[in-house]
Amino acid sequence: MSDKPQYRAWFESLGDPGERYGLDEIVYTARDGELLQVVHDMEELRKTSASEWKSLFERRARKNEWPYGSGVWGKKEWVLPGIDNDNVVSMYEGHSNLFWAERYGREVGIEDLWIKLCGNAHTGSFKDLGMTVLVSQVKQMISQGRTIPAVACASTGDTSAALAAYAAAAGIPAVVFLPKGKISLAQLIQPVANGAIVFSLDTDFDGCMEIVRQVSERDGVYLANSMNSLRIEGQKTVGVEIMQQFDWEVPEWLVIPGGNLGNISALAKGFDMMLELGLIEKRPRICVGQAEAANPLYLSYLKDFEVFEPIAARTTVASAIQIGNPVSRDKAIDALRRYDGVVEQATEQEIVEACASADRTGLFNCPHTGVALVAMKKLAARGLIRPADRVVVISTAHGLKFTDFKLAYHEMRLEEIAPDHPNPPMELPARYQDVRDRMLREIDLRFRR
Ligand SMILES: *Cc1c(COP(=O)(O)O)cnc(C)c1O
Repeated sequence: MSDKPQYRAWFESLGDPGERYGLDEIVYTARDGELLQVVHDMEELRKTSASEWKSLFERRARKNEWPYGSGVWGKKEWVLPGIDNDNVVSMYEGHSNLFWAERYGREVGIEDLWIKLCGNAHTGSFKDLGMTVLVSQVKQMISQGRTIPAVACASTGDTSAALAAYAAAAGIPAVVFLPKGKISLAQLIQPVANGAIVFSLDTDFDGCMEIVRQVSERDGVYLANSMNSLRIEGQKTVGVEIMQQFDWEVPEWLVIPGGNLGNISALAKGFDMMLELGLIEKRPRICVGQAEAANPLYLSYLKDFEVFEPIAARTTVASAIQIGNPVSRDKAIDALRRYDGVVEQATEQEIVEACASADRTGLFNCPHTGVALVAMKKLAARGLIRPADRVVVISTAHGLKFTDFKLAYHEMRLEEIAPDHPNPPMELPARYQDVRDRMLREIDLRFRR
């Protein structure tokens, strides 16, 4: 018996495994109102051994054989097996660098600290990993004759950038709803440049989410938010990629910032599949970092997840996680239970200082990564992360998308924050003697031992 495996995946209700839908059906929630999940036929996947999967993923990585060189599509059988390669919309996302943050790690007392730079991506955040999957599925549905007038999302900035780029690449109309004045200029210009229909609404993310739910329900536009679990399938490859990069040696800790909580769910789902298919044998622990200004998961964690109360998120520099009513909370709580999870929070002062001090060791952090760094330091202080532990911080976006807060920090313009490491440019007349004196003084000041 050497039949070629027939890989299959479908949407399934979290509460009732009997309730299933095809991935080409337009359905986001189960009859009980809860989210759906994508479930794979694990029997079929098990017909390939762990070592065969590993070498397949390895062989495909970064090569140009369409579409397998992408970090997501190199794992196509685990992600969206039913897609025609011709319908894949990919910009060879994934395979982002994972590097040893030696100097910063030494400063914080974690010698084996690694940063997974998911922001080194086409649109500058991990959102590309999920959006390539969702837009590919939409392209396939359209090619099969379905009427889908547009794909739409509410966004704190990065989802809309990814949606706009992938939809533009596929020639599919995109509509994005952004909370006015609550995203960075770089994030605003991305969907504008990519030709999306951009609405800047006088509300917050949760308010935008309400609007997009309505246009998807009433007007048939396809919903691209992470309540659409197709995105999770792409995002889960980040865990597989990290393991590939470590030669399948499992780290002790993964630390990730959380807002709508899709990404933590995805991270855990990738590890679930690797465990189930025997590619790895132990579980890492997972820590989610939240901004104190938008901390409903943290508050729930303090009560052992027995209750979950949505909050009104307050303003935070970590604008992509300024979410008070996260849609993927149930999946996230499940994930944290499976991975002996911990939730920590970070104040505004802590976030900007963590970014600034890590930037001084050569990183260039987005504020959400700053939240993760704060969470990590708190776990180390509590003794949960031990000095010899290998820790991977999931850096979710490129720092260049968030220069506004860095500039304000270094120019000492951030409200209520007195910066510890401001480094504003020095304005001097262009005269050698003046410049030289100042230069030598600064070198002495900063690098004197
Ligand atoms: C979307 C986003 C997050 C949060 O991910 P969730 O899935 O909403 O928890 C964190 N950081 C950045 C930069 C993001 O764009």
